[in-house]
Amino acid sequence: MKLDTHAIRYLTGEDWRVLTAVEMGSKNHEVVPTTLIVQISGLRGESGVNKCISSLAKVGLIARVKNAKYDGYRLTYGGLDYLALNTFSKRKSVYSVGNQIGVGKESDIYVVADETGTQRVLKIHRLGRISFRTVKANRDYLRNRHSGSWMYMSRLAALKEYAFMKILHENDFPVPAPLDQARHCIVMTLIDAFPLRQISTLTSPSTLYAKLMELILRFASQGLIHGDFNEFNILVHEDTQEPVVIDFPQMVSVDHANAKEYFERDVKCIKDFFKKRFRYTADEDGPFWSDVKRIGKLDVLVEASGFSKKQAKELEKYRKEVAPLADNDEEEGVAEGGEGVEDDDRDGGSEEEEEDGDEEEEPEGTIEEAKRPMIGEDGK
Ligand code: ADP
Ligand code: MG
Repeated sequence: MKLDTHAIRYLTGEDWRVLTAVEMGSKNHEVVPTTLIVQISGLRGESGVNKCISSLAKVGLIARVKNAKYDGYRLTYGGLDYLALNTFSKRKSVYSVGNQIGVGKESDIYVVADETGTQRVLKIHRLGRISFRTVKANRDYLRNRHSGSWMYMSRLAALKEYAFMKILHENDFPVPAPLDQARHCIVMTLIDAFPLRQISTLTSPSTLYAKLMELILRFASQGLIHGDFNEFNILVHEDTQEPVVIDFPQMVSVDHANAKEYFERDVKCIKDFFKKRFRYTADEDGPFWSDVKRIGKLDVLVEASGFSKKQAKELEKYRKEVAPLADNDEEEGVAEGGEGVEDDDRDGGSEEEEEDGDEEEEPEGTIEEAKRPMIGEDGK
């Protein structure tokens, strides 16, 4: 779904309060009753709140749902995006939003800028944009159940990615610097480099290959496996040909039950890609799982830093029960929904899904400046 920020500057303080009330109410209500919205917002006068509700619904931040028992509203992806952007704006991590540069299976990537015009990257996690293995899992996850909703799972993915990026960055791994996290979003530094996938020639394939294998081993020696180490998630600086690794929501500890398998898959991904793209095969086999010498415990540090084992398990359970629509097709637009997804159960509203149908074009590869302030003086 597209991030459309044009309405953000016109929201009044009361609109923000009502939007926040819908978010709070949805923690334990699949559909938040209007009376509860009025109550949580703490605003005097029901008619004022109703006015806010209708303007929020008009721009698609909340959607009206007719329930068997009562009528009410639910927060849409758009509404959650606005709440996160408002937080970033208040903390001065994001001032303006520019072009979309990536559409993944489970995320949207935008170039944004801070007040000084320095460009950054906003990654919006969108779990739920996938097909479910079983109808039951679909029902469980898309309902706004406390620990099972798209909103909660997307937030967990953002929390996890931020926690790993922080630890990796602090330990001098070549990764973007994490700058902020709120709800289902993270803000990080913009890496001015292209994904390996888009690179047709290298000065020295053997040098980059060696660096990447060394990196996989270095991750593992610190207790970590990337788990999705491929040509989409490795950016390569044009001048130095130095790699930068991104995309961490699937990282696991070397103590994970499937650690060996994930390690070997990461190695194989690079081997296969170098063979196909650069016709390069290393003289030596490996690296092998048995080459890993554990010297650090960043996996344990991540747990201590705010992304708990329990949260990791919840996210993993979700991943096991859903199937990505396709593998490694990050450059293609992915339509929302999929087999087995019942429209009625989806948060986000069907009107948004229709819009998404037109959005199949590839995101622009260029990084254009984000100039327009997202929130005007009056919109705070
Ligand atoms: P996904 O989980 O959807 O694969 P990624 O984090 O891999 O999301 O980002 C998708 C794409 O967005 C990347 O392949 C890359 O082109 C671009 N991208 C992501 N983060 C950055 C960044 N910090 N700097 C520059 N480009 C980025
Ligand atoms: Mg990726």
